[in-house]
Amino acid sequence: MGASREARRAISRVPRGESPHASTLTAAESPPQCIGRFAPSPTGSLHLGSLVAALGSYADARSRGGQWLVRMEDLDRAREVRGSAAAILRTLELFALNWDGAIEYQSARTAHYAHALETLRALGATFECSCSRRERDRESGYPGTCRGGPTRNGPTAVRFRVDDTVVLLEDRLQGKCEFRLRECGDVIIRRRDGAFAYQLAVVVDDALQNVTDVVRGADLLDSTPWQIALQQALKLPTPRYSHLPLIVEPSGEKLAKSRRSVALDPLAAGAHLYEALTLLRQDPPAELESESPGLIVQWACANWRPDRLRGVREIRAAAYRTTV
Ligand SMILES: [Zn+2]
Repeated sequence: MGASREARRAISRVPRGESPHASTLTAAESPPQCIGRFAPSPTGSLHLGSLVAALGSYADARSRGGQWLVRMEDLDRAREVRGSAAAILRTLELFALNWDGAIEYQSARTAHYAHALETLRALGATFECSCSRRERDRESGYPGTCRGGPTRNGPTAVRFRVDDTVVLLEDRLQGKCEFRLRECGDVIIRRRDGAFAYQLAVVVDDALQNVTDVVRGADLLDSTPWQIALQQALKLPTPRYSHLPLIVEPSGEKLAKSRRSVALDPLAAGAHLYEALTLLRQDPPAELESESPGLIVQWACANWRPDRLRGVREIRAAAYRTTV
């Protein structure tokens, strides 16, 4: 672990957009054909929902002999909780989710985002938006108010001008999804305060890190059409997407804030991992629960069955377990 130049060089050699079955390289010289990633925001501790996403993407990449990267999505400095980036990494280590190469921090990568923004601007694919938060947060999405230019003076955000087309997504878990881009609306790619927005940064980073497989929670499914449209505009490859079911309360409601704010207990790492595997419908054997995190994660990779999550959009978590 840690900053490994070799690992990064190895990453940069990985051919893009190659099907895992199409390679003619021999096993000895073949670079990993699958690069997955986990991209937490340092806005608090990892909770059950984020562990499910981390374990799902880890098992998916490792089960195919792939690499697994960790990227810290720390562009929103105002929401950042001091010390949480380090705490998240420590938790991943204690849960035996070991990453490859160096951790990338988005806050150190703004030159890449600025370059992408200039490319989009030169294509005429952006416009300045002066709308206030109240004006733009309508239920029906952004109505395109500033497409002809900002409607008032002062600082502006930058939006990506979407075409009136349909984006098709062949999600490995959720199947065929269709999105009308105009209904998604023109997405903000640089905020009014100058910070680059998630949608642009994630597209640039996934491409620069040669990520082939994005495995993440289904709460990000609605963001995917923008990301695909941005990839197409920037002539970047589109990774394979797998949207894991969202973990919800037993009642079907969004995972309670109380549960989301409860940090995972490293002393109960095995029990947490076992619960995450159960939620991911991997049907782990009962005796696995008392094993070490390393053994549980190893089992998860060796027995990873993503087909069990096909078409599953959400999974109800059990009620609070008193033992965890
Ligand atoms: Zn506007």
